[in-house]
Amino acid sequence: MATIQFKQVSKVYEGGVRAVDAIDLSIGEGEFCVLVGPSGCGKSTTLRMLAGLEDITDGTLELDAQCVNDLSAKDRDIAFVFQNYALYPHLTVAQNIAFGLESRRTHRSALVAALRGNSAARHAESAAIEARVASVSHTLGLDALLQRRPRELSGGQRQRVAVGRAIARDPKVFLFDEPLSNLDARLRIETRAELRQLHRRLRATIVYVTHDQEEAMTLADRLVVMHEGRIQQNATPAQCYDAPANRFVASFIGTPPMNIIDGTIETREGQCSFVASGIRVALPSRWAPFSNTPRAITLGIRPDRVHISNASSNAIPATVESIESLGDRTDVALRCAMGRILMRSLPESLQNIREGDAVHVACDPAHIHLFDAGVAGARLTPIA
Ligand code: ADP
Repeated sequence: MATIQFKQVSKVYEGGVRAVDAIDLSIGEGEFCVLVGPSGCGKSTTLRMLAGLEDITDGTLELDAQCVNDLSAKDRDIAFVFQNYALYPHLTVAQNIAFGLESRRTHRSALVAALRGNSAARHAESAAIEARVASVSHTLGLDALLQRRPRELSGGQRQRVAVGRAIARDPKVFLFDEPLSNLDARLRIETRAELRQLHRRLRATIVYVTHDQEEAMTLADRLVVMHEGRIQQNATPAQCYDAPANRFVASFIGTPPMNIIDGTIETREGQCSFVASGIRVALPSRWAPFSNTPRAITLGIRPDRVHISNASSNAIPATVESIESLGDRTDVALRCAMGRILMRSLPESLQNIREGDAVHVACDPAHIHLFDAGVAGARLTPIA
């Protein structure tokens, strides 16, 4: 197990693409850290720098408090599980799992043989490798598959073999780059649960990359949300969901995404309100200090915090655009003067609503988020 520290680490590719921009990130021993963000935000580059597969342009990368900027990949004691598993098609499952151990043995055995001409050491090592493969395959439920070749396995089984090969080496750190993206939806959920259990058992330091925010939320002890080469938030999944650091995180984390409405904030006759397209939404008084100077502002509200209400001064007139019934929940798209608002409700609370109906909707005031205007607008923290 190991600790990892990125200190102002940047990566600029030839041609000038700044893929990673001065990131600071500390990952503790035994932590399951997930890097998440849209395609092209720099996740894989960050992981590849950690693995030693990509040079660092600027900054310092430390493993166990030692700078590893110039340490080659093979000397970092890090195991990497890729999206395409990278299994050897001509080797059996057992041989694939043993591969990392065998290739290490080649170096060591050559040395032992040269020094001592001793074959007993080789036998002892073979037995140790066999025992290690048996233990790993048992842990991952691969016992019955040890003599099969990769083409005779399902996607999920191949993925487990790739994990097995990584575990067998007992590395300091595991890196996973979108390891579930080739699996179908059901298998992805199952394998996700297996990975969590495995982490609980091994207590290994894991750095895991995915573009899928739901996968990230379910796996991570800590979530690192990235956008355009920068870290937007580094916190627990619950913190990223409940208190997104900025508008980007607010719209990226959570399905369906948070409703985002641009407007202004003002206090009139003692009532602080968010105002957009002539519609006023009353805000709790703790937001009032932000209205002292007129300013553009963005309101965020999660779809499950919007509800149908009676016509009142605080309700937003809207038309029901579409209704999607998903069994245990119903998603309703509403069109109002401010734009489109998505509402997620329990089916029983929507029995009288039809597409095309004129309704009023309200936001749960305790769950309104406010951000500075602009795509990267920072979260505003109300005065307690
Ligand atoms: P992600 O894993 O989040 O999808 P990447 O780290 O792969 O993002 O890429 C970040 C940025 O760096 C993208 O703009 C991508 O096009 C660019 N990039 C990645 N690899 C290379 C490369 N070898 N040469 C030049 N640009 C690259």
